[in-house]
Amino acid sequence: MKDILIGGAWPYANGSLHIGHIAALLPADVLARYHRAAGDKVCYVSGSDCHGTPVALRARQEGKTPEEISSRYHREFAECFRKLGFSYDYYGRTSSEEHKEFVKEFHKKLYESPFVYEKEVPQAYCENCGSFLADRFVTGTCPECGGEARGDQCDACGMVLEAENLENPVCAVCGSEISFRSSRHLFIALDRMEQELKNLVESHENWRKNAQTFSERYIREGLRDRALTRDLDWGIEVPHAGYENKKIYIWAENVLGYLSSSRAALKDNPEAFRQLW
Ligand SMILES: [Zn+2]
Ligand SMILES: [Zn+2]
Repeated sequence: MKDILIGGAWPYANGSLHIGHIAALLPADVLARYHRAAGDKVCYVSGSDCHGTPVALRARQEGKTPEEISSRYHREFAECFRKLGFSYDYYGRTSSEEHKEFVKEFHKKLYESPFVYEKEVPQAYCENCGSFLADRFVTGTCPECGGEARGDQCDACGMVLEAENLENPVCAVCGSEISFRSSRHLFIALDRMEQELKNLVESHENWRKNAQTFSERYIREGLRDRALTRDLDWGIEVPHAGYENKKIYIWAENVLGYLSSSRAALKDNPEAFRQLW
């Protein structure tokens, strides 16, 4: 009997599911059923990805709170998976207390490592709205392909961006020109993990081709340190003094959902959780 962990991708809670989501998620359910039938011990988990600027932005546009928006879609997703007969052992959400507690514990330990440091960086700010503008709260022109891009990424060419890289950046809420103000953030030193990450990618030849290619490309182009925190109201509190007005950056918490949800699935058996991971 084998211990099998299956993590279904977490749908993002700012819009309804469509057939494309289901097509991508179904193979994991088939796999879970196969392993259960074969007598293996399966932990099949997933959940709704509830934080980040797309939910916050949508809430602002609809005159609702981000909690209302993400809860609405979380309920819809859970109901949809139930009706379709998905066999998750646990389906959670990143706005649950279980997930938030897990993430804060994890980050506290992470900040004690030599890979996390503080840095003052220019952050987009809207005088008209009177607030910092994280990621998608800024829109502008991509410096790489000239397409319309947001403050975190260009969907047209896939380029990872910062708001200060955009040409003609404006506030996504009110359309005003933006300015930049200094803000202190925690960063993770990815460039110092280059060799470990390279070894990790090279030792997993069974990864899907596009996962391999993307990972190799990021390493080849030079890993850039990434912010772990954001000037946002919506998200998980940063467990660090002086960061009361900031939140953990979504990329640094949503993928921890595989850990937090399997811990929740196995809450009566902490030893099984440790063994699984
Ligand atoms: Zn582009
Ligand atoms: Zn504005």
